[in-house]
Amino acid sequence: MRIVLVGPPGAGKGTQAHVLAKTLSIPHISTGDLFRANISQSTQLGLEAKAYMDAGKLVPDEITIGMAKDRMSQPDAAKGFLLDGFPRNLGQAKALDEILADAGIALDGVLDLEVPEDEVVRRIAGRRLCRNDGSHVFHVDYNPPAQPGVCDECGGELYQRTDDTEEKVRVRLEEYHSKTEPIIGYYADQGLLVTIPALGKVSEVTERAIEALRGK
Ligand code: AMP
Repeated sequence: MRIVLVGPPGAGKGTQAHVLAKTLSIPHISTGDLFRANISQSTQLGLEAKAYMDAGKLVPDEITIGMAKDRMSQPDAAKGFLLDGFPRNLGQAKALDEILADAGIALDGVLDLEVPEDEVVRRIAGRRLCRNDGSHVFHVDYNPPAQPGVCDECGGELYQRTDDTEEKVRVRLEEYHSKTEPIIGYYADQGLLVTIPALGKVSEVTERAIEALRGK
């Protein structure tokens, strides 16, 4: 399956993508994780992306699209993938269409995770990520690790993202409304969109997601 996950920051895209990718046996491709990996390895791409990420702004398409394309062309993505955080504007959505069309493939579905805005801020403020694998995501209240500060899955150190402050979240939400939300209509027009409420336990949202994708 080839799936795109959309939703505002804090909707739980990373958490759901991690579980769904395992369940569906497809790689989880997160452009945010790819940028963070580049930053921690101090690559040129990481240096270019960092200022935008720190400001809560979208990284320019010239950088983002090439990086996503490279990742999608790796052998493990031949059988399908779950895109988390890409595309994030109409230009990227159209570029993705071209990349897929050139490869003679198409998306199966676009899953939109809906969450009220006040909940988004609460979720982000308590969010903690694993340093070893950014798709191991916890929340200090809603999904706490067994041992504070330690990843349940691999024992890695948990940390808070530098763009997870309230001020940055506000900018990221503005970016989401002005630039990312238009892709929801774009995919609805193509009959690809399924929207589910992303409130409740992680496992409940996963069940809803799998049910919604079943028809795709
Ligand atoms: P995320 O981990 O998906 O919340 O992404 C963190 C940050 O990485 C975003 O706030 C952007 O600065 C950047 N980013 C991730 N994906 C994209 C994308 N598709 N286009 C532009 N910027 C992105």
